[in-house]
Amino acid sequence: MKIGIVGGGFMGLVLAHQISKTKATVKVFESDSQLGGLATHHDYGTFIWDKFYHVILPTDNYLIDLIKDLGLEDDLNWRRSMTGYYVNKKFYSISSSKEFLLFPPLNIFDKMKLAYTIFYGSRINDRKKLEGISVKDWLVKIGGRRTYEKFWSPLLKAKLGDNHDRVSAIFIWTYIKRLFQARSSAAQKEHMGFVSGGYKTVFDRLEKLLLEKGSSVSTNATIQSINTNPKGGIDLKVGNTIEHFDKVIFTAPLNVLEKVSSPDLFNVSKKDRTVEYLGVVCMVLVTKQSMTPYYVLNIADKEVPFTGVIGMSSLADLEQTKGSHITYFPKYITSDHEYWSKSEEELENLFLNGFKSMYPDFDMKTVESVHIHKAFKVQPLQVLNYSDIIPKIKTAHPDFFVLNTSQFVNDTLNNNSVVNHVEDFMKEFKKELALHLETV
Ligand SMILES: Cc1cc2nc3c(=O)[nH]c(=O)nc-3n(C[C@H](O)[C@H](O)[C@H](O)COP(=O)(O)OP(=O)(O)OC[C@H]3O[C@@H](n4cnc5c(N)ncnc54)[C@H](O)[C@@H]3O)c2cc1C
Repeated sequence: MKIGIVGGGFMGLVLAHQISKTKATVKVFESDSQLGGLATHHDYGTFIWDKFYHVILPTDNYLIDLIKDLGLEDDLNWRRSMTGYYVNKKFYSISSSKEFLLFPPLNIFDKMKLAYTIFYGSRINDRKKLEGISVKDWLVKIGGRRTYEKFWSPLLKAKLGDNHDRVSAIFIWTYIKRLFQARSSAAQKEHMGFVSGGYKTVFDRLEKLLLEKGSSVSTNATIQSINTNPKGGIDLKVGNTIEHFDKVIFTAPLNVLEKVSSPDLFNVSKKDRTVEYLGVVCMVLVTKQSMTPYYVLNIADKEVPFTGVIGMSSLADLEQTKGSHITYFPKYITSDHEYWSKSEEELENLFLNGFKSMYPDFDMKTVESVHIHKAFKVQPLQVLNYSDIIPKIKTAHPDFFVLNTSQFVNDTLNNNSVVNHVEDFMKEFKKELALHLETV
């Protein structure tokens, strides 16, 4: 049985890996010249590392099990990490529960309300109630207006820009659950992980295992159209050729699905609204000098053109990056944001000026290289009643499935959720494969 997968990002390759353990063979189509999608790698000159930053949390159980399954357990490294907050031109560490509760911009009552919001949020299991209430209304209701204005609002504006009041409480609930669980309960200190060689190591191993199983991967292969075949199965058009598959699973973003397949092929409850994605513009600095002790520095300052500083080298050992420090400066934006019309040079100048305003004493002579990376469709915006507008996994056609990150209703965008999503899908899909093999 032949299965076609559209998209060679993490979702597509993990899916291909799981299917290749059955009797079916898989072919993955990736439009880019290299595998990995948003988690792909970049050549920084003296070393290769992720194009965008990635970290693994101790609670990422599905992802950690996959890494072990791929035989990469020895490449998984854990380090102590720190989180900071930049507000009123000052840096604060909020890396331990104690530091978090000492956070000076908040008074003792605000802190108690903040601690209560986090405690309350981390114990909620029924997401449905949170889908219908805006993040602002929920945070004000649980933690009070002052804590919202002083702590959450700058953080939300930093993460979501002008859209911060459009998302539901799900956004902050998933954020609280994921980030605050990263603190080990014993030490109340954060630990985070990375794979030696970055995500390239994971993708190289996934590809190798697929090829060993007789499956295949095709890069520079953009799927132009997806059509049902009257005799059963699905046809994929790539360049001038049409390839036939018994079943096809689509893993790329939804705007691509709308472009390459007919509307009757996917199944959404409410078709009058579509899923909007935030994109990301990210400056990457490679420097000789260390830049930040924090893995994540949240920025609550409207004057700074990026919304966080991600000190990858505060986590990954310098031998990973041949002695250089790598730091990311991301800004999440909607598809109509003015940054998309700026040239790389303009973005570089804008971001470097923001950087200099935060770190006036940093010796710019130690900058080895500057990179501007962009991705247009990254984070689906979890607006009110979001689950009504996402496509269902099973479509109107029995041989066509949609499996992508827009379907995360209980989680933020992260690779642990990707593995979890694939595993849930496989439980049902394996039954379909078995049925198909019985009937052919
Ligand atoms: C800035 C940033 C930071 C992140 N940090 C973390 C982190 O710390 N931890 C974590 O776990 N996750 C993190 N993530 C999220 C992680 O990168 C995603 O969970 C993951 O990459 C999603 O993979 P995907 O395959 O679902 O989507 P994508 O990576 O978007 O893959 C879709 C693929 O489909 C391909 N495609 C599109 N159209 C076609 C077509 N017509 N034909 C063939 N192929 C097509 C695309 O080229 C792409 O490769 C981060 C992401 C970003 C952008």
